[in-house]
Amino acid sequence: MTNELHSEQIKARLLILMLVVILSIIFIALPQILESKRYYQQSQQTLVDIQNLRVFAELSNKISRERAPANKAMSSDISNLAINLNALQKYRIEVDQQMDLTVTMLEKSGFYQLAQQVDVELRSDLQSARHQVDRYIHADQRTTTQMNAAIFSMFGAWDSCRNIFQQLIAAAKKNNTSVNDFASIVLLLADLRDQAGRVASTIMAPLSAQQKIPEENHLSSLLAQEQAKYLWRLMDSMQPEQLKTPQYLELHKNVEANFLGQGLSAVNRLISESQHNQTYFLTPNQLTEYMVSRFSSVVDLQTYLLEAHALNARHNIHIAQRKFFLTLFISILSLGVAIFIMIYTRKNLFEPLIQARNSIVALSSQADLGQELNNLARHDGKESLSEAIESLKNMLIQRDAFEEQLKNMANTDRLTGVSNRTALDAYLKDMEMQPQRFQTLNLIVVDIDNFKAVNDCYGHFFGDEVIVAISSCLKNNVAHSDLIIRFGGDEFLILLEKTHTDWIIQIAESILADVSALEFDLPSKVESNEKLKISVSIGIASGAESWQALFMKADQSLFKAKAGGRNRLIV
Ligand code: GH3
Ligand code: MG
Repeated sequence: MTNELHSEQIKARLLILMLVVILSIIFIALPQILESKRYYQQSQQTLVDIQNLRVFAELSNKISRERAPANKAMSSDISNLAINLNALQKYRIEVDQQMDLTVTMLEKSGFYQLAQQVDVELRSDLQSARHQVDRYIHADQRTTTQMNAAIFSMFGAWDSCRNIFQQLIAAAKKNNTSVNDFASIVLLLADLRDQAGRVASTIMAPLSAQQKIPEENHLSSLLAQEQAKYLWRLMDSMQPEQLKTPQYLELHKNVEANFLGQGLSAVNRLISESQHNQTYFLTPNQLTEYMVSRFSSVVDLQTYLLEAHALNARHNIHIAQRKFFLTLFISILSLGVAIFIMIYTRKNLFEPLIQARNSIVALSSQADLGQELNNLARHDGKESLSEAIESLKNMLIQRDAFEEQLKNMANTDRLTGVSNRTALDAYLKDMEMQPQRFQTLNLIVVDIDNFKAVNDCYGHFFGDEVIVAISSCLKNNVAHSDLIIRFGGDEFLILLEKTHTDWIIQIAESILADVSALEFDLPSKVESNEKLKISVSIGIASGAESWQALFMKADQSLFKAKAGGRNRLIV
């Protein structure tokens, strides 16, 4: 029961460990996944922002450009009015379509308020400017002031458009810093395109009436020119140097040559002609066409920047997408590998270990030596594996000692404590592996003299005491490493290897003397104060071909000693 409880505890701990590892991996991977997902979403948002800018830039350019067919229609005489009016209506449809597209795009991107502003405010501003243009076109009496007012109301429509454009850029910048400078450049180019239009538009009315350009219009044109030049320099300074690609530089050169060079100088020539009362070298329609063709270089540059950034944004989306899926894949893979390793180790390592432990504990409840193991099992489950192994090691050492003890008991004579015949058999078995060792083996046979009579007279227990005393004498006279065997009832063998015969004789003589010196108190029932003296006879043999030969030699010597009167040794 305790054992089962313990296994459950280990399994629960393993489960907790697995959960900790899994949670750690999730804890490390989740921020990475979220970060790469955020980057991915942001790069997608950048593209959406660029697309919005593009649609809006096109709308602003178209509203700005609508002034061209409007001016043409306003400057028309009867002969070409119908054609120019038709061209204006067509272009207005194009502008309206662009406005519808812009509203849809803004709504799709979540800029509902801006979409609403375009749909309501801008549409209405543009509509009222168009009314003014139409009123002028269809008026019976046309004045330069009316035409100027119509032109300026078109400026107003563009200003309204620009205002919303600026709000769109501010909103895009708020949640996406990567469009910052670029969006401002796009707006600057829209401004530039419009200012450029104004440079010509401000002198359009007097030009149309073939009148001298009033000072006010002259100043407005100059102001628009200066503003256009300023915007141009500002735009170029904002464009990062590393993004000034050959294509950018080419388009940049075009703007400078076509627009700032030819476009502005044409307007300045007309102003100069006005000041010198000369005939204008361009009609209003020619000026419009000429300027519109010059503006295209600004629009080209704007389109290039929008396309280049859109391309870059698509590239970033691709990289971010790859990074996101790679992070996701690596995280899931790491988690999978961790779970696999944990399940694998649990199944193939921990469960077998738990089973092995349970088996040891089960064994312990059956075996004697299991008391210690039982203690181990009864612990509250807090002992470490190393402690358990240490305990097991101690138990195995104890068991080895116990086995050694059992082995010694089997080889020992219980009465005297010297070796018995089992020990002699083992010794001889070992010796027979190398029979040459018998050549240097010495054998002393000791037999108690007339022992049968001791037994008969004083009893078997007294006889045992005598045997024990004699064995003590033998032990005292030989080294601990020498083998003493109780061979028969009152007969002992002493085996000594590689010892000189003289030394053997000395040992034997010492034994004879020690035994002769022994005095035994007779048993109390004998009622005698006399002491009993005992002697032994000794036969000695040194070296032989085999154990049998050696033993026979020693036995013959013993026989001679007995026959010679006992209490002596014979070699
Ligand atoms: P000898 O001098 O010729 O050796 O005469 P002996 O009387 O000693 O003759 P023997 O050696 O044949 O007698 C041995 C006796 O030892 C016989 C037996 O009763 C006795 N004996 C044998 N084993 C034991 C024992 O374990 N304890 C006792 N008390 N007596 C034993
Ligand atoms: Mg005897």
